Amino acid sequence: MTSDPSLSTSLQFLKGVGPRKAADLARVGLVTVEDLLYRLPFRYEDRSRMQSIVSLRPGARAAVMGEIKSAQLATTRRRGFKIFHAVVGDASGAIRCTWMNQAFLADILRPHVAVVMFGDVKFDSRGLHFLNPEYELVTDDVSGVRTGRVVPFYEKTGSVTPNMQRTLTRSAIDQLGPELPDLLPADVVTRLQLMPRRTAIEASHFPPSDASVEALNAFRTTAQRRMIFEEFFLFQIGHAWRRHAGSVEVKPFVPTVDDRIRAAAAKILPFRLTPGQRDAVKEIVDDMRCPAPMHRLLQGDVGAGKTIVALLAALVAMENGLQVAFMAPTEILAGQHYGNIARSLSQSRFRVGLLTGSTPGQRKQTLLADIERGTTNLIVGTHALVQDTIRFHKLGLVVIDEQHRFGVAQRAALQAKGLRPDVLLMTATPIPRTLALTDYSELDVSKIPDLPPGRTPVQTMVQPESRRQDIYQLVRDELDRGRQAYVIYPLVEESEKVDLKSATEMADHLQADVFQAYRVALLHGRMKPDAKDRVMAAFAAGQIHILVSTTVVEVGVDVPNASVMLVEHAERFGLSQLHQLRGRVGRGAWASYCVLLYQSPWTDDARERLKALGSTNDGFAIAERDLELRGPGDFFGTRQSGLPRLRTGDLVRDREIMEEAHREARRVVSEGVLHPELQAFVEHRWHQQFGLIEVG
Ligand code: ADP
Ligand code: MG
Repeated sequence: MTSDPSLSTSLQFLKGVGPRKAADLARVGLVTVEDLLYRLPFRYEDRSRMQSIVSLRPGARAAVMGEIKSAQLATTRRRGFKIFHAVVGDASGAIRCTWMNQAFLADILRPHVAVVMFGDVKFDSRGLHFLNPEYELVTDDVSGVRTGRVVPFYEKTGSVTPNMQRTLTRSAIDQLGPELPDLLPADVVTRLQLMPRRTAIEASHFPPSDASVEALNAFRTTAQRRMIFEEFFLFQIGHAWRRHAGSVEVKPFVPTVDDRIRAAAAKILPFRLTPGQRDAVKEIVDDMRCPAPMHRLLQGDVGAGKTIVALLAALVAMENGLQVAFMAPTEILAGQHYGNIARSLSQSRFRVGLLTGSTPGQRKQTLLADIERGTTNLIVGTHALVQDTIRFHKLGLVVIDEQHRFGVAQRAALQAKGLRPDVLLMTATPIPRTLALTDYSELDVSKIPDLPPGRTPVQTMVQPESRRQDIYQLVRDELDRGRQAYVIYPLVEESEKVDLKSATEMADHLQADVFQAYRVALLHGRMKPDAKDRVMAAFAAGQIHILVSTTVVEVGVDVPNASVMLVEHAERFGLSQLHQLRGRVGRGAWASYCVLLYQSPWTDDARERLKALGSTNDGFAIAERDLELRGPGDFFGTRQSGLPRLRTGDLVRDREIMEEAHREARRVVSEGVLHPELQAFVEHRWHQQFGLIEVG
């Protein structure tokens, strides 16, 4: 981090580290003293209280201090296998100690040597003993690195043993100067009353004797907090600085809004906006009227009505003579958006086009020419197409639906083409605040916290396989009332064929044996796009009653008449994914059901997930829970993660520290200049430090 000589020193120059050990350390990412010192212990154990030997009880974990009374290396019948016996005594008594296969101890633990032993007290026919205890020689100073104090435990790293790490860390700290340069601005350190950097490092590894082990293991001591804050602040300052730099950019076309445009917007509205939608529209349009390009994330639970909000933004752009690209993750969704948008704009003078992988070549050429000439005002398409092939006449706004992660890179791609449009990302996977603060720190965020009126909350049921017939009855009742149903099958990468087979068989079975009076159809990812479209269109039109599908319906599909979502093998789905699926129903005025059918045996994790889903309909709460259950790396599933590489902090455990760092970083940036070292860090080392790919 800071290029202080004592920190950037190679570990090779530490006492006791030769080239061989240095190579071992390097293999696990420990090259400099700084690497070592910023790898904090993952837990701490109190070994400070010495007990008298007479007070030891079997089963306890204890430390004793005494002298080696006798020692003996015994050979066994197994070749080369030796046992080392020693007896340690203090003023109160003596205890036997045994080590398996550590013959070298005979040279260290000689008679009359003063030692501390730490371990589990055992009891056998010959009395109390320690098996393989931790030991430490007592020098003048009793507080060593592995006994007689609160002892740090490090993640085992390759061939580097925990004791080696303790000793190395100790000598690394000892060779530091009395003070270390600090990238944290002085006023932040003062205001938050942060510990000096060097003190914090030392106390995080070798806590002072009055430190609480409980607080240490919760990573809540002032020393640990300072280390974590430092890391989070440096991460946030990079984002804040980039965001600030972006806000002084100027886009080529800046839209304006007048009464004529307001009237045009009112004309396309099929319903009254909810207050949440109205606020979001206002924030977005205000942003569009600023000279800096918009870079905003619109969050709203499934069914919150994000599409109309985006369409209103699109209308503002088009009324200003600008073009709009509207990207969706799948062809089905692109088709659906296209249908809705074309219908909403049918009375206007704007021309809308659809461009997907299945657009015929001829049609595609015409469309591309129209876009380049500016006669097509709004183009809906899948992500890839809109990104690669299109040359715009005057691109003003890009809307990216349901693939927010992708959207961040997308913006970079646009910039690379010399375009600086407003960008609006939309997501129905509510992003836990901590992740939003890491991944989307450079974005502004609008939220639609409410749902359109008249929705009845979806009733969620978690059911075992044995209840299948009852569930079919529920589906039948709903179909008899004129509703429709989804049946979802998981599609797992490794066994795609098998799963596809079971989805296909299920569709056949439901049609032939269970719901003869109704029409069942199958939808899966391997179907040709136009075949998919046909099935989707027939389902939307009510000609198909049960749609058996692999997870392709996961995002965005809108069929308000569907009232049952039956998820097979629910135990295989992630929490957010299930929430998405559930969001496909409950879009109309009717009561609706989400049935999560599970097969035993299920894991505790799966049970937790399904229980969490059954207990709330709030997407934001679910996202937080999902993050806790799966951890930040998995939260976004298999999609490439843009999460920072962290050394001391934990995104779940330390979320409020991240909040604080975020606030402080924004404040520091808004107050003016960074101090020169911090500025240099942000410009030259920030990406590398956090392992982020440079985008834009
Ligand atoms: P999402 O936010 O999940 O993308 P959509 O934009 O698809 O949600 O909207 C879900 C459904 O709610 C659509 O049928 C849409 O027409 C309807 N809708 C959206 N906003 C309102 C509103 N203010 N009043 C009534 N219905 C609305
Ligand atoms: Mg949507």
